[in-house]
Amino acid sequence: MEDSGDFWERRRHAATLRYRLCPSCFRAVPASSSERYCINDGTWLLEFCPLCNSGIANPYARYCATCGLEFATLEQPSRASEARV
Ligand SMILES: [Zn+2]
Ligand SMILES: [Zn+2]
Repeated sequence: MEDSGDFWERRRHAATLRYRLCPSCFRAVPASSSERYCINDGTWLLEFCPLCNSGIANPYARYCATCGLEFATLEQPSRASEARV
C-alpha cells in the first residue's frame, strides 16, 4: 500500500478550495457545490471577484482579498427582486 501520494493529493485539493459567496447575506458554499443562487434570498453567488477575477478562498470573506472590493456593494442582476414583487 502506498498512501503518501494520496496525502499530497488531498493537501493540494485543500489549497485550491474555492467558495461561492452570496453578496447579500454572505452565505458561502463550496465551489464544488451545485448551488448557483443563494437559498436564502435568490442572489447569484459570486465565485470570482468581478473586479480582479480572484477566486474566493475564504467562506467568511466580505471584501476581495486581492483588490479590496466590498462584495456587499455589488449591484447584480438578481432574481430576488423579481421574486419578491
Ligand atoms: Zn444570500
Ligand atoms: Zn478583487
